[in-house]
Amino acid sequence: MAQWRSFLYMLPQIWRVLARKPETVSYPFGPMELPPGFRGHVTVNAEKCRGCSLCVRDCPADALALEKDSRKQYRLIYHPDRCAYCGQCELSCAFDAIHMTSDFVRGSTQRATFTTKLVDHKEDDEKET
Ligand code: SF4
Ligand code: SF4
Repeated sequence: MAQWRSFLYMLPQIWRVLARKPETVSYPFGPMELPPGFRGHVTVNAEKCRGCSLCVRDCPADALALEKDSRKQYRLIYHPDRCAYCGQCELSCAFDAIHMTSDFVRGSTQRATFTTKLVDHKEDDEKET
């Protein structure tokens, strides 16, 4: 008898849980809604980047690297798997070239696939200095 009473007590609660929308998101099977102010991965406007390496120097997570062959030939490499999404690189850049996006990096079991070349500036690319 006591079991029936418990069941009757729980019945409206069970019904409420079954009737409401799921709390979890369906990602990756559906779109992911990100909250306002979400700090995603970094992107660079290659036209504005001067290869000064201020962002690399100030990155606390060693997520940026500058491979420099000469003053006009350099590559800016980004490791999102190391990034702390702190936004310091954006603050440090004196040329307004590097910015945080509101997009996230998709998962992978291959860590090396995360590494991205943000800037690949060649010697003969035209640019004001
Ligand atoms: S957001 Fe922070 S951790 Fe990520 S690259 Fe910029 S400075 Fe480094
Ligand atoms: S993104 Fe900005 S701080 Fe980083 S190397 Fe380019 S110009 Fe310098």
